[in-house]
Amino acid sequence: KEVVKTNFIRSIIEKDLETGKNGPRVITRFPPEPNGYLHIGHAKSICLNFGLAKSYNKNGVEAQCHLRFDDTNPEKEDVEYIESIQEDVKWLGYDWGENLFYASDYFDKMYEYAVKLINMDKAYICELSPDEAREYRGTLTEPGKDSPYRNRDSKESLELFEKMKNGEIEQGKMVLRLKIDMSSPNINLRDPIIYRIKKAHHPKTGDKWNIYPIYDFAHCIEDSIENITHSICTLEFEDRRPLYDWVLETLGTESHPQQIEFSRLNLEYTIMSKRYLKQLVDESHVSGWDDPRMPTISGMRRRGYMPESLRNFCEQIGVTKKDGTIAMSTLETNVRDTLGPVTARVFGVIDPLKVVITNWDEGVQEIDCAYHPQDESYGNRKVPFTKEIYIERDDFKEEANRKFFRLKTGGSVRLKFAYVITCDEVIKDENGEIIELRCTYHKDTFGGVTPEGMKKVKGIINWVSATDNLEIECRLYDRLFTVPNPMSNKDKSFVESINPDSLKVVKTFVEKSLSTAKVGERFQFERQGYFIVDKDSTDDLKVFNRIITLKDTWAK
Ligand code: ATP
Ligand code: MG
Ligand code: MG
Repeated sequence: KEVVKTNFIRSIIEKDLETGKNGPRVITRFPPEPNGYLHIGHAKSICLNFGLAKSYNKNGVEAQCHLRFDDTNPEKEDVEYIESIQEDVKWLGYDWGENLFYASDYFDKMYEYAVKLINMDKAYICELSPDEAREYRGTLTEPGKDSPYRNRDSKESLELFEKMKNGEIEQGKMVLRLKIDMSSPNINLRDPIIYRIKKAHHPKTGDKWNIYPIYDFAHCIEDSIENITHSICTLEFEDRRPLYDWVLETLGTESHPQQIEFSRLNLEYTIMSKRYLKQLVDESHVSGWDDPRMPTISGMRRRGYMPESLRNFCEQIGVTKKDGTIAMSTLETNVRDTLGPVTARVFGVIDPLKVVITNWDEGVQEIDCAYHPQDESYGNRKVPFTKEIYIERDDFKEEANRKFFRLKTGGSVRLKFAYVITCDEVIKDENGEIIELRCTYHKDTFGGVTPEGMKKVKGIINWVSATDNLEIECRLYDRLFTVPNPMSNKDKSFVESINPDSLKVVKTFVEKSLSTAKVGERFQFERQGYFIVDKDSTDDLKVFNRIITLKDTWAK
């Protein structure tokens, strides 16, 4: 069951509902820039914004979350990203209904507002070069200096702005800046740029615009046009809130949303920035944005994580103003916990070792096996037991101490749902590698029985017929990086911390009932972990991704 914890944002909203600040309305938004695929950090923002809308939309309150593409930066944006973002939000279980918006739909309105600010003498065209502008801006300890263009006539600024818009000015030659305060202790208020020239083709507006607005100007206007009540963003934007408020106050917009900041999600053993994730894709360190090792939502989906796992995770880590890094095991525990009740158990081996049962003369015995130990509704299937089987290589040791309850030379182990076997002989190749075990089975031990006079066998292991099975490809995934914070080393690119063992591919065997498994179906391979059928599967070869092992193998 999904539990909702309270947090400081919910407190703000509840107070606003009580005082009637925005009327009976809670309108949030999730505003991704379509310049990459969404990652687990975005999931935190999605769960928060859509989750708030979902939970307050009752008792006469109109609560909605808008999905808005912040497409104000045409060079890096692409329709592929727009499509993937919608797919990811839907997969997470959220619905924007009619409320799908594009910032570019407001370009005319933004332009109009910019003209209004020029007319109010609150904005001017500046011709300082980027280097000069940096010098004039000052530092944290030194106030800035007024640009020599600051006091130019509004009429002249208007004409130049019009020329910028019409493409008559060369890129980089002029910008539109707000006229606020060059000596403000908050550098964001030192006459920030709000429009620059970009002669770029935009996926939605085509070649209409030669100028594009800057985030700080565009975002508050987008929020205001959409009547957002609570504009939730990450902590880096705290210093920019005065600018957000300045723009809306100065324009005198009817709607003035409240910006609220919360701490972003950082996760160990991965990175969380579209720019660097794109680098991993572009340099082929991974197979694509949806590579199952990626921290992207599409990667996690392909890996086999369930949407509930991500939602539970986001709820569990909570919403605060404290920065921190979350342990990967927190996410992985949620993944394991949600898979347990919803997956059938089947037999598969990861690293097969052949066992010949020397006293077996029964041909094929079809054994009735339950798909789920706690849930009868899963039903049963038949698994063939044969003279030659495979067991897991690491379930056998030639010599082992008394605490090793699996198979050892001269020792016995139970084959799950079948018989107890005893290892009589170990066969090796010329290199000393074990290639086969010769065992005898005990006929009267079938189905968990320990006959009188026989010592109880403690170990139970998984197995697969060596002659009647399905050969598959298994992709065994591990963490993408070997260090908790790949970005922390200043002298080393994060690429150098990629885990060389983050993907192992093996050909192996599972019970043949899996030959009808469909892409996207999940299973627990008994004792080995959770697996999902990957989209790379063909009629000839099914590919299984290991979602996660049954136990945390990273815990020390
Ligand atoms: P990145 O830095 O990874 O490119 P971004 O912040 O530039 O991400 P946007 O597309 O602008 O990506 O983000 C959409 C929304 O997702 C924003 O409201 C942003 O605050 C939120 N968001 C992005 N990353 C995280 C994160 N790690 N934790 C929580 N929220 C995040
Ligand atoms: Mg961004
Ligand atoms: Mg960013």
